[in-house]
Amino acid sequence: MQINEKQLSQVNNQIQRLIAADNFYGKRLKEAGIDHVSTVEEFLALPFSEKEDLRDAYPLGLMTCKEEEIVRIHSSSGTTGKPVIIPYTAKDVDDWGEMFKRCYEFAGITNKDRIHITPGYGLWTAGIGFQNGCEKLGAMAIPMGPGNTDKQLQMMMDLKSTVLCATSSYALLLAEEIEKRGIGDKICLKKGVIGSERWGEKMRQRISTELGIELYDIYGLTEIYGPGIGINCKYDTGMHIWDDYLYLEIIDPATGRNVPDGEWGEIVITTLVKEGAPLIRFRTHDLSRIIPGECPCGSSYPRIDVISGRSDDMMKIKGVNVFPKQIEEVLAAFPELSSEYQIRISHLDGKDSMRIYVEASGSSDFKALQQKVAAAVKSKIGFTPIVYVVELGFLPRSEKKSKRVIDERFQ
Ligand code: ZN
Repeated sequence: MQINEKQLSQVNNQIQRLIAADNFYGKRLKEAGIDHVSTVEEFLALPFSEKEDLRDAYPLGLMTCKEEEIVRIHSSSGTTGKPVIIPYTAKDVDDWGEMFKRCYEFAGITNKDRIHITPGYGLWTAGIGFQNGCEKLGAMAIPMGPGNTDKQLQMMMDLKSTVLCATSSYALLLAEEIEKRGIGDKICLKKGVIGSERWGEKMRQRISTELGIELYDIYGLTEIYGPGIGINCKYDTGMHIWDDYLYLEIIDPATGRNVPDGEWGEIVITTLVKEGAPLIRFRTHDLSRIIPGECPCGSSYPRIDVISGRSDDMMKIKGVNVFPKQIEEVLAAFPELSSEYQIRISHLDGKDSMRIYVEASGSSDFKALQQKVAAAVKSKIGFTPIVYVVELGFLPRSEKKSKRVIDERFQ
């Protein structure tokens, strides 16, 4: 999926703005003596932007237009150090809303739907993004935000919400509550728009079956507008990405080079029309791949696979590189196990050890199962973890993102 002529000319507009604003990227371009790209090769020679660059620009160093044009800021989480602040112009907010509206449309959601929005409002891009798209579509927004499960379920029943917007963790929590309370027949949900974290096929199946809904994966990140830059269509063959607003590349995280379509790597995004804080070749650290070929829906928007993890998720244990997805794949092969698991890594007596807690889907011989799972993990990653099979519902449920890997070595 090469950058096309139109996209190149849009990148050149962004380059001019960045140089004029003299922010970190503008300076980088000047140092490299670049003020224009005219070929694919020249584009691919442009420097990357990193999250660290964005943090260093705190608070408003990313602003690429006059301050009076900025109508809003959003901020991404600062789990380590300073947060990132992204300024938006009125056009940026409008473009984002258009993209989000398109997401709802691709999911077959219409202005007759009632959209129950549980992601958080505020500095986050989540809740307000779902809201903007909903209002542009003309559907009824039910702006719940997270938490207060009693009230969520009451409103869901009384208002007959038809679409649930949530993280996969919260969708699972709600599905389990609905089952526990036996109120499934009072719930009118038909579709779920689920975003912002990696989730396995098993968790997807559980949410879809327990709520009896079709699920759509929505993609996005605060640095690039927020959620809503892509979604799967009803054929469920990957997420279509809105390449009239963004250009997306997949690179090998080690070499920084583009990989052929179909191969896994790290997503890198260039905004094509953003005004408040344009980004060129931003490394997202999300792992995915371009899906080659055409989608049966006929749309020519390119597709990427569901996010399989993050390049910085990699755990180094006993000298071996391990990704949470590898463990998840082993667990998914056991029908006796449910979707929820937690990995804890600690350092005891001079040695790394990995403990895996995983919920059973029903009652079975936990001890025998533990041994089988430990052996299966060993054959995949090369060393034997300690496995604890626990009862369904034992692990914590989250209203936001579930923390699946806890590294206790550096605490
Ligand atoms: Zn499609």
